[in-house]
Amino acid sequence: MYKRVPGTRDILPEEVYSWQWIEEIARGILRNYAYQEIRTPVIEEASLFSRGLGEFAEIVQKQMFLIKNKEDTYALRPEGTASIVRAYIENNLDKIKKFSKFYYFGPMFRLERPQKGRLRQFHHIGAEAIGSIDPNIDIEVISLADTLLRSWGVNGYQIQINTLGCPEDKKKLVQLLEKELKDEAAALCQECQVRLNKNVLRILDCKNEACKQITAKLKLQDKHLCADCQEHFKEVRSGLDGLGVKYEVARHLVRGLDYYTRTVFEVKHGQLGAQDALGAGGRYDNLVEELGGPKVACVGFAFGVERLMLVTQPAAKTTGGLTAYLVTLGKEASREGRILLDQLRKNGIPCETDYEGRSLKGAMRAANELGVKLVLLLGEDELKKNVVMVKDMAAGSQEEVSRQELIEKLKEKLVQNSKRKDQN
Ligand code: AMP
Repeated sequence: MYKRVPGTRDILPEEVYSWQWIEEIARGILRNYAYQEIRTPVIEEASLFSRGLGEFAEIVQKQMFLIKNKEDTYALRPEGTASIVRAYIENNLDKIKKFSKFYYFGPMFRLERPQKGRLRQFHHIGAEAIGSIDPNIDIEVISLADTLLRSWGVNGYQIQINTLGCPEDKKKLVQLLEKELKDEAAALCQECQVRLNKNVLRILDCKNEACKQITAKLKLQDKHLCADCQEHFKEVRSGLDGLGVKYEVARHLVRGLDYYTRTVFEVKHGQLGAQDALGAGGRYDNLVEELGGPKVACVGFAFGVERLMLVTQPAAKTTGGLTAYLVTLGKEASREGRILLDQLRKNGIPCETDYEGRSLKGAMRAANELGVKLVLLLGEDELKKNVVMVKDMAAGSQEEVSRQELIEKLKEKLVQNSKRKDQN
């Protein structure tokens, strides 16, 4: 028997309702914030990521799913930002308008050791604002993330923010860290000893206890930041304060990817265990140019949907909105029922019937289990009279309705049903 690949999941219909709930809420809010959906391929040239995310980024070094053929090496995308920037450049979107806002949903792939909250195929809901250096857009993006979390009913999350500064400031920060950590090299974990020369920023968010103790002693202030970057960060903070977005400044917060500059942020949740990040993002003011496009500044974020699922209580399971269930008795009624079902569906009434040869009792039980509002009975008697027996499950009543009036009558009944529900 085949099994799914480790680190991947089947999302079965019952759970899909929760996914749709998360996505529908997100779509509504992203639309209110004027973001437009973009869909890019799940495979890209591998070098898009090594160039964009940085050759020494952990994702590039260890986690890429590579597909090699004779001439090219492709990668299953490990994240969305680089792909969206590629699409923005390739489709000349900057020529249409300088400033654009996108959102995306979709699977991402990282070759990691699977564990709770860490999968090899997982899903992002993300947003990217391309084309503005204005701190107002950093503020909008972080408050959008906050609004999404509230709307999904997530409680107990913390937003941490920091600034890495512009590329010159980042270089200063790297030098500062290399100098401060050089003497501690032997006490760092093996991975951080490598990072010391290649990706020193990443040492700041190493989970190893020894490394954490060493980096906690570093008195990271804003000495490496130029006046512009300090001002930018000040404005971001006061804008968030003005909107009532709660956050804390975490000087140790860095993101593992080369493209981040200035504002970075992460959303953490205590219920998630070791993999405690629900989502993360920040500014990337040089990526578009680095990948061959114009010099435009950007900011964005992504949430991990599987982790959101662990901290939300999506709306109660539903039947998928089924309204009616048709029960037919006898061959002739079954043939006529096919036509009736087709008419109902084409008129916007979601309905189902039995395909398993159930008895009347069995079919009624199936209708009950599906939680439908109406059961439609079609037997020899009804055929003769050209009517359908309509049972209203909530009211406990039934009536004969002529075939000509059936669709209108069912629509009326549904309106009455939903009014009754509102009153209760
Ligand atoms: P990142 O691009 O690593 O900042 O990821 C953004 C969000 O995606 C994280 O905060 C997680 O919620 C989620 N995420 C990242 N990697 C994984 C993974 N391997 N499995 C599940 N979710 C992930």
